[in-house]
Amino acid sequence: MSSVHFSFAPVQICLNGTSPDELVEQHEKLLGALRGAQEALTAAAPNGRDWQLKPAESFAHAQREHAKRADVLRLLVLAVERELEAILDQAPACPGCGRRGTPASRSSNLCGRCLLGRKP
Ligand SMILES: [Zn+2]
Repeated sequence: MSSVHFSFAPVQICLNGTSPDELVEQHEKLLGALRGAQEALTAAAPNGRDWQLKPAESFAHAQREHAKRADVLRLLVLAVERELEAILDQAPACPGCGRRGTPASRSSNLCGRCLLGRKP
């Protein structure tokens, strides 16, 4: 297990701050990138044949370092998922469809699709 630890520091959604939709988009994009990094890291996992000319302990060391990197990425994904959940919990729900996000106008709590009469 890694010694890296991320503490929970969720944003507070407010009228003058970044909109809930933008916060959700930012965090979803970040999660996508981190999951891409996890895939790339898995593909780059140490292969024993690349350490066969080195001392026996070298491959085990490379495997331990790889596991640490994977652990850091896993912790990052969990931290960002937790933040995204906190954002979604604070975002107002559209009374038309229940989708959480930024209302389409200040005079209505409806999302853009419901305000325009479109089915979500
Ligand atoms: Zn809606």
